[in-house]
Amino acid sequence: MSAAPAPKKDPAAVEAEVREKIHLEILKRTGAYHANDHVLLPSGQHTSEYIEKTLVTTEPSFTEGLGAVIAKHFAPWPVDIVLSTGPGALILSHCVARAHPSRPVVVYGTKGLSGGKRRVTLPVEFHRLLRPGTKVLLVEDLVSTGSTLNLLIELVDQLGAQIVGVGCLWRRTSVDLGGRPVFSLVSRDFPTYNPAECPLCRKGVPLNEEFVRRRTHRKPSAVQEPHSS
Ligand SMILES: [Zn+2]
Repeated sequence: MSAAPAPKKDPAAVEAEVREKIHLEILKRTGAYHANDHVLLPSGQHTSEYIEKTLVTTEPSFTEGLGAVIAKHFAPWPVDIVLSTGPGALILSHCVARAHPSRPVVVYGTKGLSGGKRRVTLPVEFHRLLRPGTKVLLVEDLVSTGSTLNLLIELVDQLGAQIVGVGCLWRRTSVDLGGRPVFSLVSRDFPTYNPAECPLCRKGVPLNEEFVRRRTHRKPSAVQEPHSS
């Protein structure tokens, strides 16, 4: 039997593709990433892939491994601070900072809403760490709209610190981050469809409404201190 002809693809592109497949497989193992499905989104649109953000950083050894890949990418640049928001991104940013040769410190902003608008607040204790000229690596778990990251970028700019780059696990390719150097383990944009034009509906694939139903039918578990009488 003759050998198959060698692929003409650029080896770097092939390597990136293989790496992305491995990272997707890891995210699948955490239970966060669902592929080859037919999912109803909260917007009413349909899609074939879905990622549950809260589950992405639940496996410490996976998070550490993925964080180390991000750290390795940014290893040639000195970093003073790794800055993130939100619980998932913060877990990841710890892993990135731990593996970066500069031994940066980890700082986080807290997310909130003000008058219906998203807002990121930097606790005052961190202000002395973020000064003019401080080299900052921004870390995010999933970048889907880029709105949180853009607020972080604005915050760093406001303090006169310097952004080294942005590292994340997953980035929707359509997101614009003002030309900042972004390194993402997975860069993917899954198409979403109007139900009327959905090819999966046309094929008769059953619609998975679980993720939407979960939001409306199930309440998160919560406990509370009793009211004092
Ligand atoms: Zn559909």
